[in-house]
Amino acid sequence: MKEKDVIKIIKKLKETYPDATCSLDFTTPFELGIAVMLSAQCTDERVNKITPLLFKKFKNPIDYINVPIETIEEIIKPCGFYKNKAKNIVGYAKMIIEKYNGEIPKTMEELVELPGIGRKSANVIMLEAFNNPEGIAIDTHAKRISNRVGLSNEKEPEKIEKDLLKIIPKKYFKDVNHLLVWHGRNICTARKPQCEKCPIKEECKFYKN
Ligand code: SF4
Repeated sequence: MKEKDVIKIIKKLKETYPDATCSLDFTTPFELGIAVMLSAQCTDERVNKITPLLFKKFKNPIDYINVPIETIEEIIKPCGFYKNKAKNIVGYAKMIIEKYNGEIPKTMEELVELPGIGRKSANVIMLEAFNNPEGIAIDTHAKRISNRVGLSNEKEPEKIEKDLLKIIPKKYFKDVNHLLVWHGRNICTARKPQCEKCPIKEECKFYKN
């Protein structure tokens, strides 16, 4: 797909979802890292129900390493995979204290080194916490829509992101990160895409086929 066609798609999606933004609640970059970790295999809505208590109880990285891990597990249990997530949260807090003086780092290279933070999460943090998007977070929605529309034929998130970065100008990174998620939640859903009411059906490979 050519850049001009992608821009057309972005503009149409922007008209459809003018308020598209991040749906995870957080007040600091450190908190966002935890919210993103909890959102794996869990809805943002559920994460937002858990984090107020978690963030009230644990305000700083040090608070997470000063309690038995079971205390964290108990609070985050409704998000699923809680043992693994709790382990990652503690490792994440520990590395931020030991290596970064308690402050979450601000580069992709450093973020992806933190326990529990992969490229997708690092992209979300760069965008939402630092307003400095470096790439496009490929979650389940971004993956599905990229494949259906024909932005990428790849299956692995990193390869899909590479394809998108070749055809999407940097100034649109912020919009694209939000729009793909919103479109995936509202119209281009996994089980039943509502193609007839889709604003980008004329550009979509799946629809045209
Ligand atoms: S036309 Fe259908 S498959 Fe294509 S983006 Fe729209 S909803 Fe998704």
